[in-house]
Amino acid sequence: MELLENRIAKDGTVKEGNVLKVDSFLNHQMDIGLFNEMGKELKRLFSDRKITKILTIEASGIAIAAVAAQYFDNVPVVFAKKSQSINLDGSVYSTKIRSFTHGREYDVIVSKKYLSPEDHILVIDDFLANGCAIEGLIEIIKESGATIEGVGIAIEKGFQDGGKKLRESGVNLHSLAIIDSMDASTGKINFRHL
Ligand code: 5GP
Repeated sequence: MELLENRIAKDGTVKEGNVLKVDSFLNHQMDIGLFNEMGKELKRLFSDRKITKILTIEASGIAIAAVAAQYFDNVPVVFAKKSQSINLDGSVYSTKIRSFTHGREYDVIVSKKYLSPEDHILVIDDFLANGCAIEGLIEIIKESGATIEGVGIAIEKGFQDGGKKLRESGVNLHSLAIIDSMDASTGKINFRHL
């Protein structure tokens, strides 16, 4: 998506450790006009799928998913919560996710009330790196018996292997911008065009 690529090239900053900072428009300050265009593009990419619910993960996925939901007939958005303590009363689906940016594992939960076997889910997140966050969400969806219709990502770092793993496992994955390489010393970012 050209609009997003141009914005990343203009305002994104490359940090050591393969981290791209997009705080000025995506995950701290948020450009809602841009989010609307991303929502429209996600709808276009998944227009052949019947989506009844969007699933994302806190915190940065929430705003992108919420804006996008308006283009999917205002389907509900559920976000997986990062939890300190797993609730053991059986009322939640849970899984462990290794955080790319924080380098530690945490539990995420979704209440069983909000995912059911009748649901057709689109998963949305801000970044795809090694794929742990999305794999965790997919595990939760499988546990619930719902159908995974696809995964929509704002920025995929194509030089990390999350996208490759998911595509090889048959996941219907679309990323709005795919970065092939980026360099912290020069700040240069190269995009992949399919
Ligand atoms: P994964 O689980 O695919 O390794 O990493 C995805 C998660 O890590 C995303 O939810 C995102 O919050 C965070 N993340 C991964 N790479 C980056 C990055 O380069 N920049 C930022 N801002 N977040 C990232």
